[in-house]
Amino acid sequence: MKLNIKNTFTSQLPADPITDNSRRQVTKACYSFVTPKQTAKPELIHVSPEMLDTLGMSENDAKTKQFLNVFTGNTVMEGTTPYAMCYGGHQFGHWAGQLGDGRAINLFEVEHNNKNWKLQLKGAGETPYSRTADGLAVLRSSVREYLCSEAMYHLGVPTTRALSLALSGDQVLRDVMYNGNPDYEKGAIVSRISPSFLRFGSFEILASRQDTETLKTLVDYTINTHFAHLGPPNKQAYVQFFNDVAMRSLDMVIHWQRVGFVHGVMNTDNLSILGLTIDYGPYGWLEGFEPGWTPNTTDNQNKRYQYGSQPDIVLWNLYQLANALYPLIEEAEGLEAVLANYAEQKDIQYLQMMRSKIGLSSEEQLDANLIQELEDCLQLTETDMTIVFRNLSDFDGANPTNGLQIIRESFYDIKAVTEAIKDRWNLWFDSYADRLERDPISAKAKKENMNSVNPKYVLRNYMAQLAIDDANKGDYKLIDDLFNLLKQPYAEQPKHEKWFAKRPEWARHKVGCSMLSCSS
Ligand code: AMP
Ligand code: MG
Repeated sequence: MKLNIKNTFTSQLPADPITDNSRRQVTKACYSFVTPKQTAKPELIHVSPEMLDTLGMSENDAKTKQFLNVFTGNTVMEGTTPYAMCYGGHQFGHWAGQLGDGRAINLFEVEHNNKNWKLQLKGAGETPYSRTADGLAVLRSSVREYLCSEAMYHLGVPTTRALSLALSGDQVLRDVMYNGNPDYEKGAIVSRISPSFLRFGSFEILASRQDTETLKTLVDYTINTHFAHLGPPNKQAYVQFFNDVAMRSLDMVIHWQRVGFVHGVMNTDNLSILGLTIDYGPYGWLEGFEPGWTPNTTDNQNKRYQYGSQPDIVLWNLYQLANALYPLIEEAEGLEAVLANYAEQKDIQYLQMMRSKIGLSSEEQLDANLIQELEDCLQLTETDMTIVFRNLSDFDGANPTNGLQIIRESFYDIKAVTEAIKDRWNLWFDSYADRLERDPISAKAKKENMNSVNPKYVLRNYMAQLAIDDANKGDYKLIDDLFNLLKQPYAEQPKHEKWFAKRPEWARHKVGCSMLSCSS
């Protein structure tokens, strides 16, 4: 295994001078050196061939003892110094102080094909940021992160990646539903990959401590490393940097809305400074199109992070980042302009994305009404988002009365589709047909375009759960099957048609399928 190892992060940013592994507040530093925990009996479950290639490794490399040991934390590669990052965050709307990598340990950076990647283990043991927890991860959450981050990549959604999924061989105690019934589960480790794991909270923690010096060092590093096109860091570049972060985050969240992904815990410590989907915890996929849906049981009361609120929550989080950057700029105007622009662009880009989902290639003033009425129709009775949009590409404007037939299989309870609901839909299909008539695109191109933005296959919550149930019994075939299926989410895969189906009834209220907690 030959890797082109670098360490720009640790060589350019200040380290915590303390190197023991005690829980502590870490000041004047961006990270602490830490050694991953030795595991009892590590065992690889799956490796992403795409990520091996991206990092300059071969499939044979992945079969070596060294690979297993490095990516479960049992061996530290020579010349590398693993570290945990310090960050804070606003959790569910409240400042939570220092959080940090409590169960993530960065190993090293790899440069390949002119790209720099940070390699990180999730679940490799305690760090100074572990607070009251154990620094470990269980198989269930690791399967979910591993499968979903690669699936998101293939869907074209900006995301961190995953290289490997392994069992640690250790047992981990978890109270899944926080109801006083803890149980032992299999421990696991995912190796995650990203150009950067910096979060909004990495900047907020320094601002909260009035440590403007370290804040400036970190912002300058981030600009020089990841936003080099902005030129040398100065006040103007800081505002531009904030604008880039805002636009990248917007792009990310519009993709989430497009594919029906609900992150579940959009705290500022879980928002990447590069606008990548990060920290796959109690996320979920919309089944019925329901703006008020969240998979996260911890958020059931307030539903702060429900599907329909995600673009607004990004804006709320950007306000917190603006506050953190302010000490370097000392002028609110530029930052406020960025936030105002986000608010405006949010609606424009959402509308544009929705136009693409219904195959419109041109823009008309009243498209917003057409799309609003569609969203209202989708909520009249439980209607599967993935199926309805995918099937809509078969709609023929010359034959609008066929519309209901085309989307029929997306209804969870066909008996619930009353005459009144049918009438609403038929009216919508009439307006849609009129609108399509005025659109210059050919029927063939329209269908192709729609099928390239409306996935046929997503990682439905129950699919991940089935893979987890098998994996807990030592059977990893479904993990591999789903991993491969989700590499081509927009393709027709007739052999796998069974995954193009509504959530089965047994999964409606099952823990892991519709209810998830942060405890993983
Ligand atoms: P999350 O909501 O998963 O993003 O986690 C919020 C914070 O809790 C982060 O600082 C995590 O590192 C930390 N955390 C979550 N789970 C654990 C764990 N098992 N051990 C240590 N820290 C954890
Ligand atoms: Mg997190």
